[in-house]
Amino acid sequence: MNSNAVSLVAAVPKGLLIGGEWSAAANGAEFPVENPANSEVVAMVADAGREEALAALEAASYAQASWTKTSPRSRGEILRAAFEEIMRRQEELSLLMTLEMGKPLAESRGEVAYAAEFLRWFSEEAVRISGDFYTSPDGTTRILTSRVPVGPSYLITPWNFPLAMGARKMGPALAAGCTVILKPAEQTPLCSLALADILVGAGVPAGVVNVITTSNPVAVTDALVGDPRLRKLSFTGSTEVGRELMAKSSRHLLRLSMELGGNAPLIVFEDADLDKAVSGAMLAKMRNMGEACTAANRIMAHRSIAGEFSRRLGERMAALRLGDGTDPAVDVGPLIDQAAVSKVTELMADALGHGAEVVVGGSRVGDSGYFFAPTVIKGVPRHSRMFSEEIFGPIAPVYEFDSDDEAYEMANSTSYGLVAYIFTESFSRAHRSIEALDTGMVGVNQGFVSNAAAPFGGVKHSGFGREGGFEGIHEYLTVKYAALNLG
Ligand code: NAD
Repeated sequence: MNSNAVSLVAAVPKGLLIGGEWSAAANGAEFPVENPANSEVVAMVADAGREEALAALEAASYAQASWTKTSPRSRGEILRAAFEEIMRRQEELSLLMTLEMGKPLAESRGEVAYAAEFLRWFSEEAVRISGDFYTSPDGTTRILTSRVPVGPSYLITPWNFPLAMGARKMGPALAAGCTVILKPAEQTPLCSLALADILVGAGVPAGVVNVITTSNPVAVTDALVGDPRLRKLSFTGSTEVGRELMAKSSRHLLRLSMELGGNAPLIVFEDADLDKAVSGAMLAKMRNMGEACTAANRIMAHRSIAGEFSRRLGERMAALRLGDGTDPAVDVGPLIDQAAVSKVTELMADALGHGAEVVVGGSRVGDSGYFFAPTVIKGVPRHSRMFSEEIFGPIAPVYEFDSDDEAYEMANSTSYGLVAYIFTESFSRAHRSIEALDTGMVGVNQGFVSNAAAPFGGVKHSGFGREGGFEGIHEYLTVKYAALNLG
């Protein structure tokens, strides 16, 4: 690391944030954070266990009552101040993100701005939490409803968006009046630690934001979900782990938000503007090196334009520069670890074994770091594994279809339902597609749907709950109703 990176990393707290204090883990336990571009250890961070998790819950439970009573305006102003500070430090946070996760600097900058936007949006929503007042149908009772915070919330985030996933949960939780315990992924804890430090600097009272870093997420999570003081779990990660956490959460009937995996179809109809479609597919596929729940996993092109579309997509993919994301000339960084490289290599071999044909790319690049070439393949049969599994890497498989109904049937034949993308110049076809596709979100003529002002979330095995938009804050609020007899 150069001296700039060293001093930047040195300034980030590496301990556990519990009750407003940064502390080491018991016995000084730590675990390493590695740079996936070169396997260098970027930092050592505290490795929490059961005891520290329960201490964080104790702090969050204690702080809950006073945080509930803090005025909505004060909560909003803290979030607003944190938004300003994140944007002031956009460059350093971007470098920190690239060092621990690998995405190119330009993408890290985009994620920092996206993350900050959740704090700004929910700073504005904090003062608009409403209730209702009406008369019962028989006229005897007045019905008064209000919305109150759910209570101490446990937030688990994945490694692929190290800052945004935490901000997308903390923004609405804090705005609603919930105290939180954030547990970032073990691969990428530094951005969460930096975010917590910024929130403390912005005036979050002791115990309202707690952060637990750990290499043992099961022990920490079991301790927290097994304790009745916890009231809510918001999880972003794989469907498999989400399912396990739902089962464990049944013991104390936790409120749940589940942002899980995806298998996004991207449909290019025969009337699409091919320039738009190719650019949209590049964005939907290659953002985050393909390591996104929203990544276009199955690109479907109408048979009449599939050849031309694949050729142009191949040209764009071949022009991408692969390398260490801290180099400003780089477009595509490394995958997160060896397991990710092995998974995409296996999926690739399976598709080729079933008769698929490589247009461009197709294999690992170099011996150090976890680089995989931007890849386009065509002639992929539906029974190959990558049709039904999340690729989570830079492989764009192109499938062909003959009719709209066939495209919808292919798109919906997955257990996932997060997002779909469609490209068409026909207004009515766009509307028919929105209605036909079984997903929580649809991108129309754009390969990007994320927006702090919009409700992000899925259906089926992609989970439930919404993050962002007017809906996001309701994940952390519960309705209280009073029956008033005025007689
Ligand atoms: P993952 O499920 O392995 O891990 C996610 C988080 O859960 C991490 O913090 C990890 O430490 C923790 N965890 C893992 N196993 C656990 C267990 N048994 N008990 C408790 N906690 C546990 O997922 P990942 O590989 O980090 O992330 C990739 C997945 O996340 C993909 O499936 C992707 O689609 C999904 N994702 C979804 C969204 C969304 O909004 N829908 C956004 C980003 C990523």
